[in-house]
Amino acid sequence: MTKKQDKNNLQNEDLMEEIISLCKRRGFIFPSSEIYGGFSAVYDYGPYGVELANNIKAAWWKAMVRENENIVGLDSSIFMHPKVWEASGHTSGFADPLAECKGCHTRVRVDHLLEEAGVFADEKMSAEEINKLLKENREKLKCPKCGGHNFSEAKEFNLLVQSNLGNFTSDWSKTPVYLRGETCQGIYINFKNVLDSARVKIPFGIAQIGKAFRNEITARQFIFRKREFEQMEMQYFVHPDESDKSYKEWKERRWQFYLNLGIKKENLKWHEHENLVFYAKAAWDIEYKYPFGFKELEGVHARGDYDLKQHAKYSGKDLSYRDPQTNEKYIPFVVETSAGVDRTFLAVITDVITKEKLEDGSERTVMKFPKELAPIKIAVFPLLKNKPELVKKAREIYDNLKSQHMCEFDDNGNIGKRYRRQDEIGTPYCITVDFETLKDETVTIRDRDTMEQERVKIKKINEELKMRLAKK
Ligand code: ATP
Repeated sequence: MTKKQDKNNLQNEDLMEEIISLCKRRGFIFPSSEIYGGFSAVYDYGPYGVELANNIKAAWWKAMVRENENIVGLDSSIFMHPKVWEASGHTSGFADPLAECKGCHTRVRVDHLLEEAGVFADEKMSAEEINKLLKENREKLKCPKCGGHNFSEAKEFNLLVQSNLGNFTSDWSKTPVYLRGETCQGIYINFKNVLDSARVKIPFGIAQIGKAFRNEITARQFIFRKREFEQMEMQYFVHPDESDKSYKEWKERRWQFYLNLGIKKENLKWHEHENLVFYAKAAWDIEYKYPFGFKELEGVHARGDYDLKQHAKYSGKDLSYRDPQTNEKYIPFVVETSAGVDRTFLAVITDVITKEKLEDGSERTVMKFPKELAPIKIAVFPLLKNKPELVKKAREIYDNLKSQHMCEFDDNGNIGKRYRRQDEIGTPYCITVDFETLKDETVTIRDRDTMEQERVKIKKINEELKMRLAKK
């Protein structure tokens, strides 16, 4: 490894550390069950985290459902009939090959080991072929924990999370019930319901945001790979002849979504799947440059008629569509856009976290969230805590703003510290009530990015903030 690479790696590790620590310290993300020693690859969103996650979901919902007349929403259940997972191929095929490091007994995903070592492995390889690759490349493979090169044979490990929910469905009572491994199956099994109830015609889409669960083996990389995570998926049903065109359009639109969200273009790239699953027509991922490198943020897939055909076969129900104009009957093709709330969250934080040297030689950390995503839009401060007339005025302003924007009232510590804190949680505007306010009914509005303060009449605050928050 060259010195330069060394330094880059260190910087990236530092950045990851910085993000993890800020997220914990400021109440964005907590490791789950911390008082019991933690629970691997499960995380909780704290007071600011839940605001940011909600804003991400709202932006997605707006771009997908609100702004498209022919896309409707759905909220299907986490539990589904076990047959759903037979039909989707998850109970037989949703597996990762795993090997154990003989030195430290860490279990590692073999596809990750081979990828890190620059060895090409086909997704369709059998366990035997994978094990052959493991043997042949032994020297190149490195345990991420202890650096050892000695691994056990690879074994397949199913990613679906089982539950012990009583399964009383007559024929299937011996089959385990799963927590869903992806949200889209809930969409496919409701295709007919939506078609019959929502006055939609092909082409149309069904969008859903919801939790998914996977027995992920590699529990690293913070919220990038969680065992309980949230997906934002949209399945677009089209005529088979329109699938290619629609796929191209959705690729462009999903790329644009991240640019509109304020993500820097240079931190995004397309990655084409080298090995398509047998039914797929095309599969590309949008990757984001996380502190640990470019990794999948969203998948855009042309899935053909596989999913509806499978569910038609396993359920015995007709899931075809009859065109009301031409009377043509067919199984629609599906174009899927599949994004993760958590991966978007981490991408946004990585993109906006900034350290700045100030004129007085001090340093500040500031999260330059786009205003739409900022957890708190406005913070209101009385200059001093022990001056009742300042506190009263600041409270009045806060009470007046809180029903329109997510606001925070803070009278803790000195004003400089309060600004730093709001910078770290990315609040675009801080309003301060000071002694001049009592004389002339004006307050200062401080801009997070420029740190400039401007005096504004109290009666103009509403208008002023509305205007500023609406600007990109
Ligand atoms: P990877 O190859 O990184 O495991 P995947 O290809 O299995 O991801 P998909 O099944 O295509 O992912 O899921 C769609 C989206 O769901 C992903 O692009 C990602 O944003 C999100 N996602 C998948 N698995 C996880 C996870 N374990 N933690 C957080 N988000 C996830």
